[in-house]
Amino acid sequence: MSAPVANFLSVVIPVYNEELNLPMLFTRLYPVLDGLGRRYEVIFTNDGSQDRSIELLRAQHAARPDVTRVIDFNANYGQHMAIMAAFERVRGEVVVTLDADLQNPPEEIPQLLAKMDAGHDYVGGYRLNRQDSFFRTYASKVINYVREKTTSIEMTDQGCMLRAYSRQVIDAIVRSGAINTFIPALAYSFSSNPTEVGVKHEERHAGVSNYSFYKLIRLNFDLITGFSLAPLQYFTMFAGVCATGSLLLVLVLAYMRIFLNDNTNGVFTLFGVLFFLISVAMIGIGLIGEYVGRTYQVVRARQKYFVKEILEAKE
Ligand code: UDP
Ligand code: MG
Repeated sequence: MSAPVANFLSVVIPVYNEELNLPMLFTRLYPVLDGLGRRYEVIFTNDGSQDRSIELLRAQHAARPDVTRVIDFNANYGQHMAIMAAFERVRGEVVVTLDADLQNPPEEIPQLLAKMDAGHDYVGGYRLNRQDSFFRTYASKVINYVREKTTSIEMTDQGCMLRAYSRQVIDAIVRSGAINTFIPALAYSFSSNPTEVGVKHEERHAGVSNYSFYKLIRLNFDLITGFSLAPLQYFTMFAGVCATGSLLLVLVLAYMRIFLNDNTNGVFTLFGVLFFLISVAMIGIGLIGEYVGRTYQVVRARQKYFVKEILEAKE
């Protein structure tokens, strides 16, 4: 971590197989930044792209070496690791994150900076007229709701990566050494004066989303288990209610058997109760496993990613 340079802006962009989007991103992003009238740097992390992204990034670094830095990973570690690697190296006082696919228009950056200049240490973007599939939009509404209920994080749109952070917040994130975490939520928990602005949202300029259904589920599970113990606590309560219900049923069955001498279907009912309780217990084991797994990953403290090369001018 270097000391932040006053009025210096760092723009962080994770890149994974974005060869079709990078040329347009460069032509739209740099003029916006040049027009700000402040010092800036753009840090691209190439997250193990299999296409020509790295060549394009190299060319861009050659064209604008003074303001462009490229971190090249040896493999794919995911969007959040790509952002973390850049966070560990930012030089600026204000840090903006952005997607490479132009879903977040670079033209919105000045709006975020205006809020930062007004004294906020965290500016979250939320997407106006979101341009994603119906399924994505709806699923994200549901998970927003769950997050609101289970954590103390307030955010209109957790999926929007167009955000600005103060350097203090970024340094806190880096120090926390968090793995597979949800950066906007983590940043929120470290901020003291957060705000939000509406930003335009465009369709992915080219290519397809890197998020499969499975990856989205994982990400959201991370979000909930990474920030709250609510799943475990709810589970305990749910299991308690089930156990009480089953106990009552067993008492009723015993009563019928002993005093009314009625033992029709008794065994099957007991099986039903038993199977139900076993399935409840199995969910619980899975849930505990999730937390144990996360603890293990943190305790193990293995290197989170491997940087093959860094292209940058000396400070
Ligand atoms: N990305 C990445 N590594 C990955 C997946 C995605 O660096 O493993 C980058 C990607 O290049 C883009 C951003 O993260 O800049 C968001 O990805 P994408 O557009 O696929 O996600 P969506 O907009 O569908 O949520
Ligand atoms: Mg996208």
